[in-house]
Amino acid sequence: MGSDSMEKYKGFLLEYLRTHLSRYFKYYQNVYSDTIRLDSDNFKLNYSIASANSKKIETPSIPEFSDVEVKKEKNINHVADVDSLQVLKKVVEECQLCELHKSRLNTVFGAGSDRSKLLIIGEAPGAEEDKIGLPFVGRSGKLLTKMLEAIDLSREDVFICNVLKCRPPNNRDPKSEEIKQCSMYLDKQLEILKPRYILALGRIAAKRILEKDIPMKDFRKEVHFYHNIPVMVTYHPSALLRNPKWKYEAWEDLKKLRSNLNK
Ligand code: SF4
Repeated sequence: MGSDSMEKYKGFLLEYLRTHLSRYFKYYQNVYSDTIRLDSDNFKLNYSIASANSKKIETPSIPEFSDVEVKKEKNINHVADVDSLQVLKKVVEECQLCELHKSRLNTVFGAGSDRSKLLIIGEAPGAEEDKIGLPFVGRSGKLLTKMLEAIDLSREDVFICNVLKCRPPNNRDPKSEEIKQCSMYLDKQLEILKPRYILALGRIAAKRILEKDIPMKDFRKEVHFYHNIPVMVTYHPSALLRNPKWKYEAWEDLKKLRSNLNK
């Protein structure tokens, strides 16, 4: 290799490292720590420790879809008759198909852009979501928002929902009967939204959407398909809060997702 080619190769390698390290520092700053500031844009490794109390924890801004009017006069006998998210949301609000309707404070239908190319599916609402009626607003919701920001996506860019629309008591795992009863709502959301990509958070969401039961490492290994829509699987943010060592693997998944969305 001549010296010119060698210089070009070194330049390419440095630029590659710079880009990837910068993005990882941004993810690190967003997802691992509220107190360390890294000047990743300028690729300076200087950092300062900020007061943990000085950082304001923002509640994620959750957009509501609103561009289609609810047709109240329409007689909805079955979910198959529904043709808009607004009407489907009303149907879910009145649902009493499984036991969970007795203990819920609110149904949690889902929120975000109804024109999003990315649909994110979690497992079931938690206590905060049940109180407010919106998905991913508790601790794991804040982590999810930061993870999305690390790959340049905001909550406004995606649509987020869960497999179950009502909270299981004490955040227990959803029962298979509950998942079966509630599944038609998720399928209808997918039919209406027609996302270009699906991200399943955790094994329960992956099992439901892909209708197969394999270990998490195998779910994460490749891109799967739901009715020809590509599906990627990564860890649920609440699992990352319990097991921070998985955050790096989640970062690898998010990088793949970002690059697939760019294609
Ligand atoms: S979890 Fe689903 S099926 Fe059960 S009551 Fe709520 S909306 Fe209906």
